[in-house]
Amino acid sequence: MTKKLVIANWKMNPASGKEAETLFTDVENGLTLLKKTEVIICVPFLYLNILKSANRQTKKIILGAQNVFYEEKGAFTGEISPLMLDNLGIKYVILGHSERRALGETNLDINKKIKSALSFGLIPIVCVGDKERDENHEYFNFVKIQVEECLNGVKKDLLGKIIIAYEPVWALSTTEGRKDATPVDSREMVIFIRKILTDKFGVNTKLPRIIYGGSVNEKNALEFLTNGGVEGVLVGGASLNPEKFLEIISIAEKI
Ligand code: PEP
Repeated sequence: MTKKLVIANWKMNPASGKEAETLFTDVENGLTLLKKTEVIICVPFLYLNILKSANRQTKKIILGAQNVFYEEKGAFTGEISPLMLDNLGIKYVILGHSERRALGETNLDINKKIKSALSFGLIPIVCVGDKERDENHEYFNFVKIQVEECLNGVKKDLLGKIIIAYEPVWALSTTEGRKDATPVDSREMVIFIRKILTDKFGVNTKLPRIIYGGSVNEKNALEFLTNGGVEGVLVGGASLNPEKFLEIISIAEKI
């Protein structure tokens, strides 16, 4: 049985290493032995080392990063390489988050990062998602282009290692004038993404796991996990609250 994924995206939070340790420990202490769920917490680069060297990385929680550059080393001021993450023992990395795309990251950049991350044995959590819904259903095409361009040239045998996070930007907790997405919205898009992948890579290819992200909380997690067609959830805002995040994990564990 494949485990359900509950992935936290702390984004640019919290404000200090001390607070990061407290938040991490609060979640860790609240966890019982998990049999059916994999918990990954993606933290700012600065805290990866703190949380690792404080020996917080137990078997209960896996640490992840929120971005990585595609080059291995050299004159790339301000960047972090996949080799550095690998050397630190980090396995998961969020790529192509809509907040990074809003800062100018393109599908081509993300594609290079995915291929480079995979070559170092990292597992990319690739975010895709429509910015808005339109009556003509153009948003399907928008996601199709993201999926195709981001995964261009990925080796067939590595495709199954990837996790795709379907995150409709209009449903994120931080989007102004946001709307709630439903599990049906999620399921529909998951089926569509699987079709794109099968068309592109062939029917006999192991496909990525697909998860949903966008204002997931302790109240709607069950609905998304049971009816959203996904194998897990990506949690932003609610992951900064240990009680809420623990509740989401316990919901996933009970399914
Ligand atoms: C995210 O931005 O990755 C996310 C899931 O955010 P939120 O849960 O706060 O909508």
